[in-house]
Amino acid sequence: MLQQTTVEAVKAYFLKFTKTWPTVDALAAADDDDIMRAWAGLGYYSRARNLKKCAELVVSEHDGLFPASAAELKKLPGIGDYTSAAIAAIAFNQPEAVVDGNVERVVTRLYAITTALPQAKPQIRELTEAITPVDRPGDFAQAMMDLGATICTPKRPACALCPLNDFCLALKDHDPEHFPVKAPKKERPVRLGAAFVAEADDGSILLRKRTEKGLLQNMAEVPGSVWNSRMDGSTDLSAAPFHANWRNAGIITHIFTHFELHLTVYHTTSADKRQVNDGWWSAAEMLAEEALPTVMKKAIAAALPDIFKIKGKFRR
Ligand code: SF4
Repeated sequence: MLQQTTVEAVKAYFLKFTKTWPTVDALAAADDDDIMRAWAGLGYYSRARNLKKCAELVVSEHDGLFPASAAELKKLPGIGDYTSAAIAAIAFNQPEAVVDGNVERVVTRLYAITTALPQAKPQIRELTEAITPVDRPGDFAQAMMDLGATICTPKRPACALCPLNDFCLALKDHDPEHFPVKAPKKERPVRLGAAFVAEADDGSILLRKRTEKGLLQNMAEVPGSVWNSRMDGSTDLSAAPFHANWRNAGIITHIFTHFELHLTVYHTTSADKRQVNDGWWSAAEMLAEEALPTVMKKAIAAALPDIFKIKGKFRR
C-alpha cells in the first residue's frame, strides 16, 4: 500500500484491510470486487490486484508462508527490488540492500554521486550493498530510511544531528542539497475526455464497470468517452451514452503517472432508466461503497458537489 503513497493516506485503508482480511489465507479467498471496493480512492490500482494475486500464490505454492529470500519474494506479483529486499531484511534478517527514495538521497549525499537519477540507481544499490551489515540488516535498513525521512531531508538537512556527518562527502563540499542530481523531468502529455453523470429521478447515478484491460481495470466509472489528445468529437458531448439534456458541469483535472487528464463533466437529471441497458444505477448513499477511483469521484463531485458528503463518506 505504501508504494507511491504516504502513511497518512494509507492508515485507514491498512486498518480496514487487515480487519476485513486478517490473514493471507483470508485475502486469497476474498472476492476481487470486494478488494477493489476497499481499495477505491487509494490509487495505483494494480497494487490491489497484485496483492490479491500474491496472496493466492503464497497460499497455493508456499503453504501460506512467505518465502524468506529476496530472490524468491521477487517472483511474487507486485514485489520488486525494493519490497523484496525490505521484506527479506526486516522480516527475515537477510543482509539485503534496501533502497527507497530516502536511502537514495542519503547515499547520493554520503558519496557525492554526480550521476543523475535514474541512471545512478545501480551505483546507489552497489554502495548500499557495500555498507549493509550482516548483523541486524533489517534495523540498518529502517535506520537508513528514517535518517532520510527525518534528518537527511530534501531541503535543509539537519547535518549537525546526523550520525554520518563525519563521513559525508556532500557535507564536506558544503552542498548536500545538490544531491541527488536529477535528470530534467519530461512534460506529461495531456489527454482529453468526457464523463457523463446521469442522475435518475430517485437520485441514483448510472455506473458501469471498466474493462479488464488497461488503466483502472475492473473499477467502477460513470459512462465516458475515450481519453486521448484529440478534439475530434471522440472526447466531447457526442460520446454521450444516450440522448438527454446534458449540462456542462465543468472540467476536472487528474494527474496519472504518464499523462494529465482533462475531463469535461456533463450532468443530466431525470434520466430515463429504460434508455440504458449497460451498467447499474447506484443509490446516492451507496456511492462511497462503490469501487470508484479518485478521478471518477472528482467527476461525480463536479456535477453533484455534496453527493459524497451523504453519510460523510467522501474519501480523498
Ligand atoms: S551529513 Fe547531512 S547530507 Fe550527509 S547524510 Fe547526514 S544529513 Fe545527509
